[in-house]
Amino acid sequence: MPLHLEPLNISDELQEHSSALIVTCPICPPASLASDSDSPLIDFFKRGIKTPAYEDFIGELTRTLEQRGIKTGVFTSYLPSPIACGWTKGQRKRLLKRARNFDTVLVMGCESARYTVEETLKDTDCEVILAMRFVGITNASLTFEFPFTLRLGDLACVDANQQAAQELKP
Ligand code: SF4
Repeated sequence: MPLHLEPLNISDELQEHSSALIVTCPICPPASLASDSDSPLIDFFKRGIKTPAYEDFIGELTRTLEQRGIKTGVFTSYLPSPIACGWTKGQRKRLLKRARNFDTVLVMGCESARYTVEETLKDTDCEVILAMRFVGITNASLTFEFPFTLRLGDLACVDANQQAAQELKP
């Protein structure tokens, strides 16, 4: 199951910036927002393959930034690899091209997503800001509802560090 991430308040970090590209990993962040709001992961006939709670969050973030006079854009890449921690060279090249028009990049993802973005943009002046924080690993039962809705049920957030520490005991 995906990492459980929660959005951070990044208002202060954006004070000096006039443009921001929101780079979203399309796996863990949508699952996190859907589970936090107890809403569907996928509601295919209403929103396609996009997660409603996550799309609403990104839409609201974009509106808020634009109201502050910050030009915004959104970058997500699904193919050939949807996970930002495994984006291909081609996907990273597309991000580099897109980010050249912005002075900062907000990473909606984990530290590994941030690493992908920082490595990709290391030769640019773009500031990379992590906009989510890791709180654990999601554990859930995937449930299907007619006609094509997916939900995460029986949710739990597992503390990865505690589990690792227990396993390392002799
Ligand atoms: S980059 Fe992070 S948030 Fe995205 S899929 Fe990989 S582990 Fe999940």
